[in-house]
Amino acid sequence: MNHHWFIFNQKNEILLDGSGVPFMENAPVECPEGNHIFEFGENSFCFLYNGDAPQGFSFLWLRKANSKLSPEVWYKAAKASELVYFDSVYRFCPQCGGKMEISSPISKKCVSCGNEIWPRINPAIIVLIYRGKDEILLSHAHNFKGTFYGLTAGFLETGESLEECVVREVMEETSLKIKNLRYFASQPWPYPSQEMFGFFAEYESGEIHIQEEEIADCRWFNRNALPEIPPHPSMARKLIDYWLDHREEF
Ligand SMILES: [Zn+2]
Repeated sequence: MNHHWFIFNQKNEILLDGSGVPFMENAPVECPEGNHIFEFGENSFCFLYNGDAPQGFSFLWLRKANSKLSPEVWYKAAKASELVYFDSVYRFCPQCGGKMEISSPISKKCVSCGNEIWPRINPAIIVLIYRGKDEILLSHAHNFKGTFYGLTAGFLETGESLEECVVREVMEETSLKIKNLRYFASQPWPYPSQEMFGFFAEYESGEIHIQEEEIADCRWFNRNALPEIPPHPSMARKLIDYWLDHREEF
């Protein structure tokens, strides 16, 4: 029986053949000793492999592989990537230093003390801020991989709600006040193990003052004159596309 083999290296690159994720009975490379094969979903397996790609295969950074994968396979690849990252980071028990073995399809257990751990997922927010019917705030952050303009985003801090996080990040990065915060949707963001929570918010008051260490440029853009925006399958793109298509709701 054929299986999907999601094989990643430590650089979050996925092993592809000419048709995408290899679909075959046996993996095209062997799972190295000390790494673990995770079985997930229907006929899908993944493991960490840091060797060279065999003939006819190549490694491609997961973000660049988006265009070669269907949305369904991309979501599986996202899960596989997070499991492989989990396997590479939690090789030894954080409690006693013992060896970690797989104990369920999504967890590992220490062979010495029995401590069981699950992949750690880092929640992050992203927010589309609109002003009137026709303008949204877009910014270019120093760490963007490309020339596009995106939305305000940041990591949840301890002791904080997602809503508080949105308000804080917007204030920190732009100095603007927002209102009418509304939850949109969430999605995994496997770079390496985030979960993005998307929101809409309406501009309330203030002038833009950017946080210069993080943001290179931040401006209001008219819906008819948007700059290059983030590619699929990002949450930023989903939020922008939704706003463009549902004018009556905002
Ligand atoms: Zn232990």
